[in-house]
Amino acid sequence: MTDKCKRCAVKTALSESDIQRMIDEVSAMRGVRLIGEDAYKKRLDVCEGCEKLLYGTTCSACGCVVRVRALLADGRCPKKKWG
Ligand code: SF4
Repeated sequence: MTDKCKRCAVKTALSESDIQRMIDEVSAMRGVRLIGEDAYKKRLDVCEGCEKLLYGTTCSACGCVVRVRALLADGRCPKKKWG
């Protein structure tokens, strides 16, 4: 498997530290509402079983990093599988 996106030719596989930095940045933003821990885990469970998940991190339907999108109280799954 490649870690490059065919379309944009940039690295698309993210490291754990990349993702944690993104989560930290979103969590620190003013006015952003975060979802509770149980609901967050349920969303991620759905993503983990979804055929749209790439590299274990990224939704191929919308390009989001699922661990970041699922954290947002107003986050939505583009395929309406959660949120
Ligand atoms: S956000 Fe929705 S479509 Fe994307 S990987 Fe998760 S469940 Fe699948």
